[in-house]
Amino acid sequence: KEKVPSDIEIAMAQTPKPITQLAHEIGLLPLELESYGHYKAKVELSVLDRLSHRKDGKYILVSGITPTPLGEGKSTTTIGLAQALGAHMGRLAFACVRQPSQGPTFGIKGGAAGGGYSQVIPMDEFNLHLTGDIHAVTAANNLLAAALDARMFHEGTQSDKALYSRLVPTKKGKREFAPLMFKRLKKLGIDKTNPNDLTPEEITRFARLDVDPETITWNRVVDVNDRFLRKITIGQNSTEQGHERVTGYDISVASECMAVLALTTGLQDMRERLGAMVVATSKQGDPITADDIGVGGALAVLMKDAIKPNLMQTLEGTPVFVHAGPFANIAHGNSSILADRVALKLAGTEDGDEPERIGYVLTEGGFGADMGMEKFCNIKCRVSGLTPDAVIIVATTRALKMHGGAPDVTPGKALHDTYTKEDLVTLEEGCKNLVQHIKNSRKFGLKVIVAINQFATDTPAELELVRQLSLVGGADAAVVSNHWAEGGAGARALAEAVVVTCEGSSDFKFLYDLDLPIEKKIETISKEIYGADGIELSEEAQKQVDTYTRQGFGHLPICMAKTQYSFSHDPKLKNVASGFTIPIGSVRLSAGAGFLYPILGDMQTMPGLGTRPGFWEVDLDATGKVVGLF
Ligand code: ADP
Repeated sequence: KEKVPSDIEIAMAQTPKPITQLAHEIGLLPLELESYGHYKAKVELSVLDRLSHRKDGKYILVSGITPTPLGEGKSTTTIGLAQALGAHMGRLAFACVRQPSQGPTFGIKGGAAGGGYSQVIPMDEFNLHLTGDIHAVTAANNLLAAALDARMFHEGTQSDKALYSRLVPTKKGKREFAPLMFKRLKKLGIDKTNPNDLTPEEITRFARLDVDPETITWNRVVDVNDRFLRKITIGQNSTEQGHERVTGYDISVASECMAVLALTTGLQDMRERLGAMVVATSKQGDPITADDIGVGGALAVLMKDAIKPNLMQTLEGTPVFVHAGPFANIAHGNSSILADRVALKLAGTEDGDEPERIGYVLTEGGFGADMGMEKFCNIKCRVSGLTPDAVIIVATTRALKMHGGAPDVTPGKALHDTYTKEDLVTLEEGCKNLVQHIKNSRKFGLKVIVAINQFATDTPAELELVRQLSLVGGADAAVVSNHWAEGGAGARALAEAVVVTCEGSSDFKFLYDLDLPIEKKIETISKEIYGADGIELSEEAQKQVDTYTRQGFGHLPICMAKTQYSFSHDPKLKNVASGFTIPIGSVRLSAGAGFLYPILGDMQTMPGLGTRPGFWEVDLDATGKVVGLF
């Protein structure tokens, strides 16, 4: 067999077609395209109005078994399958994936453009700045952080009257409220339009947000794995003396602004969500929002271009939307609703079209199905109103063997024999993990296709064992796919299974009702999806649950922040964990994105760099080309 070259070698060897040509092929009009260079473009949301009469294409979620350090190839499979449908079967097929964070790109994981002969290109642009969306998210997040601290500073150094006269200054002899201030007046029940009419008591209530510093939940963000920013003290210059406070940084993709980008349904909706983000509670117990601080509009302005999905292509010239990038462990882990919607319309059919005209949209839910799929169904689909036709669960024999008890990998050391030689016993044991994910998917009424992502060392008996156990475990189809080595041609059987499985209608349902109390919703996910005996809320978490319920946020869905490496909260418990109770350390609120997120175990919202990060490999060659991204 010929050796498959490295990911970046394959990616660099292929010349992408001009993005304008691809846009034309998929039915976009020239005015709906905003090119960023030759091979990337943003797509105007107006296309959704133009195609609103179309029936959506087929909608398929790609998820996976519980991840291991060996990598399962979800992105690779998403891209390989899109290539098979689009370049080998004459279907219009879109892959919708997340934009990678530069944290993992230079940290441990490397790029996320897929691999082998199934990749998004140009892969260096995909993995780096793309069209700047993550930078826009970072800018918006940090403007809000700066606005909050500055406001607290000014409230702490000025009298009510002085504060009010600066907030509502006299211009040309006249005081006027800024447009956003009417929102706050309304919230406070002050029915006045002339700033001079406010009573001293109303002036105090209007001018003072009275933030309780203990309740601030808004962190600053940066898109780097910078562990030393996890906890910091700000305000140490002499000009801010007396206003120091302990805070921290999260990675940009964990920002609520990123979750808003991924979950928004349109420009006005994004504006409302950004303004509704809660940063703290006042000393009187009321939630304080970005709009209370006056910055909601500015945040929307910073993100007005980020809201447009980015069009790129696969190695075989089929379309890919890359949009938004929330992590799947500490955030909701799915690419944007808007990219999916645009793709579903472009892949859709009109009255009179032949049924075979229907196209396919493959959207990726990060990490294992207990994370990306559960959040896709309970959070993303609830907002979008879209219902998936099927879920694909990606598995590899190597990862299943690790779940079955094969030794962990040590960086720099050769893989244990179990991974490269036939071992049906370990493999069978590890298939329990896959089966639990299949059963979980069934709880959402989803049709399930298992994609066995083939490695060169897999034996026929091993592949057949996984196939059989998948079918016995309840999958509608289980197919071996060799797209990494062969590109779209290698995923043809998988693509055929997808077409057949998606022919019927699906019977999608949510796992829990939004009206349940917060604890009950957390418990339902823990028991039904993770297999836990129950949950245990810390005192702090209980207090937060009570506050959010009292403030009227009890109806939101739940976004669990949990390790991706186990069904449980303990990353060491592989395969199918049982006999455990999930500790909930705290619960946070994302009022704008629209979910509550409990923190399980000791999840970090800012990753760190290891001793030997991926950046050691990355450089420019003599011609200025990027090398070493993988
Ligand atoms: P995930 O999306 O599950 O994190 P990726 O698709 O990013 O996984 O793949 C992780 C890594 O594994 C990539 O570097 C990719 O090239 C490699 N990989 C994926 N599938 C195969 C395969 N069948 N054979 C060899 N390497 C693979």
